[in-house]
Amino acid sequence: MAQTIQGIRGMNDILPQEGARWQYFDAVVRDWLAAYGYNQIRTPIVEATPLFVRGVGEHTDIVEKEMYAFEDSLNGEQLVLRPEGTAGCVRACIQHGLLYNQTQRLWYTGPMFRHERPQKGRYRQFHQVGVEAFGFDGPDVDAEMIVMLADLWRRLGLTGLQLELNSLGDAPERAAHREALIAYLERHVDILDDDGKRRLYTNPLRVLDTKNPALQEMAEHAPKLADFLGEASRAHFDGLRALLDQAGIGYKLNDRLVRGLDYYNRSVFEWTTDKLGAQATVAAGGRYDGLVEQLGGKPCNAVGFAMGIERLILLLETQGVEMPRAAPDVYLVHSGEAASRTAFGLAGELRAAGLKVVLHAGGGSFKSQFKKADASGASFAVVIGDEEAAAGTVNVKRLTGAAAGEQQVVAQNALAAHLGAAA
Ligand code: ATP
Ligand code: MG
Repeated sequence: MAQTIQGIRGMNDILPQEGARWQYFDAVVRDWLAAYGYNQIRTPIVEATPLFVRGVGEHTDIVEKEMYAFEDSLNGEQLVLRPEGTAGCVRACIQHGLLYNQTQRLWYTGPMFRHERPQKGRYRQFHQVGVEAFGFDGPDVDAEMIVMLADLWRRLGLTGLQLELNSLGDAPERAAHREALIAYLERHVDILDDDGKRRLYTNPLRVLDTKNPALQEMAEHAPKLADFLGEASRAHFDGLRALLDQAGIGYKLNDRLVRGLDYYNRSVFEWTTDKLGAQATVAAGGRYDGLVEQLGGKPCNAVGFAMGIERLILLLETQGVEMPRAAPDVYLVHSGEAASRTAFGLAGELRAAGLKVVLHAGGGSFKSQFKKADASGASFAVVIGDEEAAAGTVNVKRLTGAAAGEQQVVAQNALAAHLGAAA
């Protein structure tokens, strides 16, 4: 026998028993996005490499070591499996003129790819829902995004999520802070680890984001970006905080929250959980007013976030959130040639009437078919033997609820109406 071929490490199959959770998540998310007036955009999984080098930032973990980059073997183009969705979304908006004299509220979902060390909640192919708003400069849209997420946790039935908030200021403020920070880090270069030394000049803010215990004290006392914010940045941040207070959303200010992508400015936020170990962040985002221009568009304010679906599904599981079962209404049990032909036709009629129907296939005794009917979770078994086929009737048996076990003979031509009323 040939050797079996395995899936790729860190890229998961989502098996049917997990399907109910994913479908529940998708359904809740679609209603939620519609409630806020966001429209879906779908962009390709493969994009040109420079989009992310320019868009995410050359000195980010994603671009330095996590991208699945390859050369198109047919024409030599440099391509990547998208590691995130914002850059592609912005590219599409610019390319199709979606940002000229108009605002956009957009969302997308799909797989993202990062070459990370796989562990619980961290995979090489994972899924995100991303939400982006273009053309808004006020803190009201920043607040809307955070409020939306609080609302989503409520809709999903998730509890205990924490919000962390920071302001990164605008480019000149960041530049002034960066200079002060580099000078400070240079004074402590002897204690920096390899990551710290590597990032000192390329991405000094990220040095403060270190998890190395030996660097915590140094990071605590580093120059704070908050002290470099100008009037406009501060007013924006105060505006956001006032709206969050008004909405009754608690948060923790974290002046070391910087995010792994280079394009953020002003507001940044993360929603975290203490239930998933080190993979604590379930949604993260912020403002990125410079990105559209950086990718070749006319300057355009922007704010957005992305959430990790796998981590949220794990959380739904950990918190034991009950999923509505996607069970059929009817399991059609049949035996005998005429009965099976009748059952085939009836299944079509019932589906046309809006019912969810599993038509038994593969033969077997009534007893074994009933077992499958029970296991399917169907509300009713509809049974047809040759006798019923000849009489133009079926036997309807309730499988669930208080009246489980009750049976009734029903005319075939009255079945859809009967079940529709009873379901
Ligand atoms: P982390 O700090 O956990 O690596 P990140 O800052 O790289 O996250 P973002 O790029 O902001 O994450 O992506 C948004 C969300 O996507 C994260 O908060 C997380 O929920 C999810 N996510 C990111 N990388 C992965 C991954 N490799 N596997 C599963 N989910 C992920
Ligand atoms: Mg990461």
